[in-house]
Amino acid sequence: MSESSSAVSLVPGAPEGGRRRLSVVIPAKDEREGLEALLAAVYAALGECGGLEHEVIVVDDGSRDGTFERLRELQPRHPGLRGVRLSRNFGKEAALLAGLRAATGDAVITMDADLQHPPAVIPEMVARWRAGAKVVHGVTSRPSGARRRDRFASSAFNRLMRYLAGIEMRRASDFTLLDRVAADVVVRELPERRRFYRALTRWVGFRQESVVFDVPPRERGSSAWSSARLMDLAATGIVSFTSLPLRLVTFLGLATLVFAVVLVADTLWSWFTGTAVSGYATVEVTLLFVGSAVMISLGILGEYVARIYDEVKARPGYVVEEELGGAPRPDSPSLPTPAQGG
Ligand code: UDP
Ligand code: MG
Repeated sequence: MSESSSAVSLVPGAPEGGRRRLSVVIPAKDEREGLEALLAAVYAALGECGGLEHEVIVVDDGSRDGTFERLRELQPRHPGLRGVRLSRNFGKEAALLAGLRAATGDAVITMDADLQHPPAVIPEMVARWRAGAKVVHGVTSRPSGARRRDRFASSAFNRLMRYLAGIEMRRASDFTLLDRVAADVVVRELPERRRFYRALTRWVGFRQESVVFDVPPRERGSSAWSSARLMDLAATGIVSFTSLPLRLVTFLGLATLVFAVVLVADTLWSWFTGTAVSGYATVEVTLLFVGSAVMISLGILGEYVARIYDEVKARPGYVVEEELGGAPRPDSPSLPTPAQGG
């Protein structure tokens, strides 16, 4: 992946062979205050993309501050503005999927609503796409994460993903452009319910490039991610991309077995040579060690079982309550299926 600044020029109105329409998908939870400034910046950036048709889809992920009402007010002034309102807060991953399913463009950009994904980067992403890239990742210039323990956890997580799953997640963000072919794979061919978008966009392959951007501090509101939610997302990432932890359990068991064999040999030796067999402390330590190894193993198994259960239940990842703009769908309003697509 090249991370250098692009030298590709934007040729307005150049023949595109059908690639003419860009969708921007923005999941938003409690972002009413920042919505107007966001749309101004996004539309300004879209104006610099060399005459692309566009639509902007804001997915209201169960906001309680009237984000959707604000969107309704803003819609007449913004051509191509659409809204999807989820029936409650389903989480950013679900909101992203809802937006991707609603998107009709030949390319789809996903970005945050809080201007931490600067819209000014959009023209460069589009330029890369026009030059043939199928996936353009926005990569942050510095490790993100407000809290120190989150940054620490995230670097540990990135390392795990690299070694276990072979996916490079360093400084990754959900600010991404997907060509229609890649978007179709992410939306239709990857039906998993517990999703990890920024890894899925890397998994799809095709020609992938990166653009680097600076993350400005959040101006309004606060990050909706608790450490617990981040941990859950990290577990989803690891469980859905590798089953190596399960194998580690086996290795842990083998290591314990070797330890046990040595201990038995030592005990027998002591018995035959007439030395006193070591006592209470050894039993205690061994018990604690084996006990914790068993519980860690059960925990790892549990992570997989929980996710298998989620997939087997096959509930939809979100429910659409209302849509704003765009073509009405024959079987709306709710329970979208992958086949609907738009
Ligand atoms: N978001 C969402 N649903 C949620 C939490 C967040 O749609 O349950 C949206 C939020 O409105 C924002 C984006 O996801 O547009 C990123 O959220 P946030 O800024 O809180 O995360 P951070 O920047 O800390 O990663
Ligand atoms: Mg943010």
